[in-house]
Amino acid sequence: LDADPLAERDELPPLDPAAQQRIADAATHRAKVLASLVGLFPGECVEISQRNRVADREAATLVAIADHARFVINPQLPRDVEGGRYGRIDAIMFDGTGYVPILVVRHKIIDPGRGALTSPVWDPVVGGGVDLTRKVRSQPRDQMRLAHTWRMLESLGSAGENPFGGVIGMDPEIVLWYNLTLKVWQGNKSALTEYDERFADRLAVANAAANLEPALAEPSRILECKYCPWWQVCEPQLIERRDVSLVARGDDAVLLRDAQITTIDQLAEQNVDAPLESFPNPHKFVDAVIQARAWRAGLSMIRRGEVEVSRGEVEVDVDMESFGDDGAYLWGCWVSGDDMGEAAGYRSFATWEQVPTQDEGRSFGEFWQWLMALRAKTKSEGLTFRAYCYNELAENKWMYASADRFAGMPGVPTAAEIKEFVESDDWIDLFRAVSEQFLCVKGKGLKVVAPVAGFHWRDPEASGENSMRWYRDAVGMDGNPRDDAQRTRILEYNEDDVRATHALRRWMTERANVELPLVSAL
Ligand code: SF4
Repeated sequence: LDADPLAERDELPPLDPAAQQRIADAATHRAKVLASLVGLFPGECVEISQRNRVADREAATLVAIADHARFVINPQLPRDVEGGRYGRIDAIMFDGTGYVPILVVRHKIIDPGRGALTSPVWDPVVGGGVDLTRKVRSQPRDQMRLAHTWRMLESLGSAGENPFGGVIGMDPEIVLWYNLTLKVWQGNKSALTEYDERFADRLAVANAAANLEPALAEPSRILECKYCPWWQVCEPQLIERRDVSLVARGDDAVLLRDAQITTIDQLAEQNVDAPLESFPNPHKFVDAVIQARAWRAGLSMIRRGEVEVSRGEVEVDVDMESFGDDGAYLWGCWVSGDDMGEAAGYRSFATWEQVPTQDEGRSFGEFWQWLMALRAKTKSEGLTFRAYCYNELAENKWMYASADRFAGMPGVPTAAEIKEFVESDDWIDLFRAVSEQFLCVKGKGLKVVAPVAGFHWRDPEASGENSMRWYRDAVGMDGNPRDDAQRTRILEYNEDDVRATHALRRWMTERANVELPLVSAL
C-alpha cells in the first residue's frame, strides 16, 4: 500500500500521540547513547550532521569511510540502487577490515543468564566475548535491521570480514553482538539468509504495487494491524470478503487458507469433530470454528460453560499503573462487600515524584499494609476476602520488583510474603477467568470485555498507552511544569479500571449465564 500510487491515502489517520511519544523517546535515547559514544572516543568519531541535505550527508559518510574513521555516527549510506535498498542506521564501526553496523534501541535486548556475546561499550570489540551474566532476549527485528545495513555496506564494498552487527539497548554499558551468518533461525537459516528471503519477497510486492501490476499481497489480519494506519483501508476489504483472518489472525489464517478455508462462512461450516490436521492444536481449531459461528451470529462473546468467579464477603479490585520499566507509581483499589470499617469505593496509593524514585517504596508499602490489614481483619471476623486484578502478570511483577527494590522500607513486604498472597485463593486473576470461560471474538482485553458487561470508561481516550502520556504531564517530565489536571485524569482512569473489573465479575456472577449463549449452542 505504501508503494501503490493509487492507494486511498487521503484519509489516513495521523500517528496516535502514544506512538509519537514512543518515537520521540527513542530518538532522545539514541541521541544520548550516541553522544556518550562520542564522549568515550574523542577524535575517533565522525558525526554526520542530520541538518544537511541527503547528498551532503552521503558525501560526508563516504569521506569518513574512506578515511577509516573508527566510528561514523548517524551515517547516510548511499542508496543501493541495484539491491533496491535504502535506510538508516545509528552508527557504523571500523574493525580493521571494514565496517559493521551498530544499532541503538530503546527496548530490552538482554536478560539475566549467560551466553550473550557482549563487549563493554568503552571497549567495543566486534563479536565480543561470551557473557556469563547475560543472555540474549530475542529481538528478530533488530537482527533484520542489522542484516539490511550489512547488505548496504557490502554493496558499497565497505563491509568488514566479520559478519557481525552490534546493538546498544537500555543498558548503555554494553554492546550486544549478533553473528549474522550463524544458523540460529528456524529452518537452519542465518539472520542474513532470513533477511534476504524476506527482503526479496517485500521488494517484489512493493515493485508490483508501484508498477500497478497484479497485487502480490493482500490484506490479512495480523497483530500489527492494530497499530497500522492502513487498517481503515484493509478492514473494509476483509469484511467485504468475510475473510477468515477476522477471526483467526496471523499464522492461523495462513494454515486455514492453505486448506482452502478462506472465508468466515467456510470456517463456520467446518466439522468440529474433525479438526484440520495441519493445525498445531486441535482445540485452537475448534475455537476458531466457534468464533466464526459467533461472528456470523453477531456475537462478540460466548461462554464455554457455566460461568463462575470466586467471590468474597469483602472484595478489593486492584489495578497498578506503571511507567514503562521505570516504576509502578499508582496502586488503585475498589473496595466492596461487607462493611469492615472500610468505606466502600476507591482509594489510591501513589507517588507523584517521577519514577524511579524511593517514594515508590513509600506508596507501595502503604498499599501493601492497607491491603493486608483489610485481609487479616476480614479473616479474623470469619469472612472471606478476595482481591482481583486483570492479568496478574503486571501486578505480580511489580509487587516482586518493589519488594526487591525497596526492601527494608516501612511496610514493604518480603518476596515470601508476596508469594504467600499471590499464590493464595485470595488473589484472583480475572483475565485468566475470562480466558478460560469465554470465547472472545474481538479480543480479551478489559477495554473490550467490560463493555459487554455494560461498563464504560468516563474518559473517551482511556487506554494504557494514553495514560503514559498523561503521566509525563502529571509529573512534569522533560522539564515541563506539573499538570495537576492530568494527575486527576490518571486517578479517574485508574478508578474506572478497578470499577470495570468490579462490574465485569458481578456480571459474570449475575448475568453472563443468562445473557450469553453456550459454545455448544453454536
Ligand atoms: S492493516 Fe494489517 S493487513 Fe493492512 S497493511 Fe496494515 S498490517 Fe497489513
